[in-house]
Amino acid sequence: MNDLRLAVVGAAGRMGRMLVQTIPDTLGVRLVGALGRAGSGCIGVDSGTLIGSGPNGVAISDDPAAVAAQCDVLIDFSSPENTVALSGLCAQLGVAHVIGTTGLSAQDLEVVAEASRKVAVVRSGNMSLGVNLLAVLVEKAARALGPAWDAEIVEMHHAKKVDAPSGTALLLGEAAARGRGIDLGEHSARGRDGLTGPRKTGDIGFASLRGGTVVGDHTVILAGAGERIELTHRAEERGIFARGALAAALWVRGRPPGLYNMQDVLGLSG
Ligand code: NAP
Repeated sequence: MNDLRLAVVGAAGRMGRMLVQTIPDTLGVRLVGALGRAGSGCIGVDSGTLIGSGPNGVAISDDPAAVAAQCDVLIDFSSPENTVALSGLCAQLGVAHVIGTTGLSAQDLEVVAEASRKVAVVRSGNMSLGVNLLAVLVEKAARALGPAWDAEIVEMHHAKKVDAPSGTALLLGEAAARGRGIDLGEHSARGRDGLTGPRKTGDIGFASLRGGTVVGDHTVILAGAGERIELTHRAEERGIFARGALAAALWVRGRPPGLYNMQDVLGLSG
C-alpha cells in the first residue's frame, strides 16, 4: 500500500511542529503539505527547517485548497475558525479530516457534523491513549456510583492555552454524563466565584488552572459521603497527541463518511 499522504494544519504551532517532527519516524505516512496563517512570517519557510531538523522539502503554504488537493488526510491542530473553514473544504474535496483543535462551539460542531456526512472525520479533544482509557474508566465509575457522588474535574495547562475548560476536561465530563445518563450541557458547573450557594446535586463541576509549561493534567474527583476517588492523567510531552493523531490518520484511511472519535480509533468503544 502507498504511504498515506498527510498535510499538517497549523504547522508552525506547538502541535504542528511536533507532527512535522514525528511524521518521518512513523511507518506508512508521508508529509506532503503544511499550512500556516496567511501573512505570517512562516509562509514559504521549509517546515523541517522551521523545527531545526533540516529541510524536508515541504514549505509552509497559505493556500488550503492547493494543499488539501494533494493529500489523503488533513491533520488539524489550529483554531476553531480555521478548523470550521477547513471542514467544508475537506468535505468538498473528499479529504479525511483529523481534528485535534479544541474550543469549538456548538455551532462549529454542527458544521463539522455536516461535513462528516460526506467524508470521514476523527475529532477528539485529546488524542492520547491514556486519556481515552481514562474516559472509559470515568464512564464506568460514574455509572456505578450515580449522582450521589459529586463529580468534579480539575485541569491544569500551560500559560498560553486560550480556551477553558480544556477539550479533555469536557471529554471527561461527557464520559461522566454518559455514565449517569444525563446531558452535560444541562448539568454542569463551569467555574464558581462569590456567593454561589451550595453545590447542585448531579452537576458535573469544572475548574481550570493555568501556568508555566504544563502539557496537560486532568483529575476526575468522585466525592461521596466520607470517601473520595481521584482518577488522574498527566501528559508529560506533546508527542503523545501527535502519535495519537497519526494513529487516527492511518485508521481513518478508507473509512466511510462519519464522525469518529479516538475511542473508535483505539478500539475502546462499546
Ligand atoms: P498553537 O501553538 O497556538 O498553534 C496553533 C497554530 O494554528 C498556529 O501556528 C496558528 O498560527 C495556527 N492558526 C490558528 N488560526 C489560524 C488560521 N485562522 N489560519 C491559519 N492558521 C491558523 O497551539 P497548539 O498548542 O499547537 O494547539 C492547537 C490546538 O490544538 C488548540 O486548540 C489546542 O487546545 C489543541 N490541542 C489538542 C490536543 C488534542 O489531543 N486534541 C492536544 C494539544 C493541543 P498563528 O501562530 O499565526 O496564530
